[in-house]
Amino acid sequence: MSNKPEIKELPLRSGRSDVHSEAIFLEDVEEGMFHSIGEKDGKKPQVPVPAYYFLQLVSKELGECEAVGSSPAVLYLGVDSLRKISHTYDYTRTDLLRKCAERVQVIISGVYGVAEGGEGLLFLVEDLTNTEKAEQTAQEIMEAFSDPFLFNGTEIYLTVSLGICPYSEDKQSANALIEGAEMASLLIKDRPGSNYYFFNPSISAEWKNSYSLEFSLRKALKENQFELHYQPQKDIKSGNIVGCEALLRWKHPDRGYIPPDLFIPVAEENGMIIELGEWVLREACRQNKEWHSQGNYRGLIGVNLSARQLQQPGLADKVKEILLETGLSAGYLELEITESTAISQNNKALDNLIMLRELGIQVSIDDFGTGYSSLKYLSIFPISKLKIDKLFLQQEIQHNQAIVKSIIRMSHSMEMKVIAEGVETEDQLVFLEKENCDEIQGYYFYKPLPLEEASDLFLQAQ
Ligand code: C2E
Ligand code: MG
Ligand code: MG
Repeated sequence: MSNKPEIKELPLRSGRSDVHSEAIFLEDVEEGMFHSIGEKDGKKPQVPVPAYYFLQLVSKELGECEAVGSSPAVLYLGVDSLRKISHTYDYTRTDLLRKCAERVQVIISGVYGVAEGGEGLLFLVEDLTNTEKAEQTAQEIMEAFSDPFLFNGTEIYLTVSLGICPYSEDKQSANALIEGAEMASLLIKDRPGSNYYFFNPSISAEWKNSYSLEFSLRKALKENQFELHYQPQKDIKSGNIVGCEALLRWKHPDRGYIPPDLFIPVAEENGMIIELGEWVLREACRQNKEWHSQGNYRGLIGVNLSARQLQQPGLADKVKEILLETGLSAGYLELEITESTAISQNNKALDNLIMLRELGIQVSIDDFGTGYSSLKYLSIFPISKLKIDKLFLQQEIQHNQAIVKSIIRMSHSMEMKVIAEGVETEDQLVFLEKENCDEIQGYYFYKPLPLEEASDLFLQAQ
């Protein structure tokens, strides 16, 4: 039996008359062939079938290109929601991919081969070492996908991400080229603003960092490696503890405590923040209710909400469900959002905030003054408190005191409370007292406390 698949010929165009082009799609490859190849070599191919044939094709073409001194490139065109579109419009994924391949081949003159691979298409193309030409080609491909496709009479726009890996000193093998193009495509997929990316050596490190962190984060959630620490907040006049902020900590079995700034952005990017954020909310509400039930402490619990969470449809229902489940009254929960979290092109965040406020939940703006501050949002968003960022408490910086004074006055005249975070010195405290700041949070009083220490403190409260 031949080790080459029966290929339904795509009318691939090539700049060179001697270029032999091949199209390899899953539907064209017989299963028996997959086994015979695998068994013949004593091991199964490491990649899905068409990509396996593509690998062979790239290896073969690389040899020929090297002989004539040309430098081919591998392109990976990832297509979003492939399966969803295929089910919705009754099109096989291979037919969908064929349509995409046809669009690309109109742009690129020299295509040696194209194959279905994962959630997209792999292309082996003629020389793309000229950066300008490569950029232009990538842009043209992207433009070609800005027009809709017609699937069974319906116009559909496909979102694609293009990874390009040109032949280079350190990318000479077929495997390395394919892997590089796939990595570049996957990395660009989650980045707003651009939809194509050229492989460069730093990508490998970036990829490994972000993906090894992603895998360990998933494991951490399963194995309960997360915990909350609680930083008390004081009323400046009475000196009483009036609440605390729940701050997420990852207790890594080997690396110890990992601060949130290191892993929240990754969780935010891969969407895990929704699951993680729900765990934080539930745990914070449950714990606050437990303190309330055990003694006289009646503090508020502050929970940080990420941008993705605030955009999530059904957020208010989820929060309501958690409150019912844990028994905490809505008035004892404060959700902290940042300015940039609140500001978005659509109204989802605003709708969610309105519903949350209607439930009786407090909403504060965290790190106020450090984001895209637009006073317009203060008048639109239903905010109950502003948190002055620690940056403005650095008294040695000119104008900071004036900024703090203005924020406090503005908050009060808009009937919002104001809390200063990051209070570290007595001078800062004296200044904030003088300016009638309502509440304070910072190392001067307490660092974020692990559960046991926080419980001891709150249960002493009268
Ligand atoms: P944030 O919400 O502004 O939290 C305040 C940060 O300032 C905390 O850092 C806290 O430990 C630190 N801090 C408090 N007092 C002082 C002080 O006097 N001096 C100084 N230098 N720092 C002080 P942390 O715990 O590392 O958290 C960093 C950020 O991570 C938080 O900033 C928040 O944006 C995010 N974060 C923490 N937990 C969660 C969470 O459950 N969900 C989400 N979405 N974000 C979280
Ligand atoms: Mg906060
Ligand atoms: Mg803050």
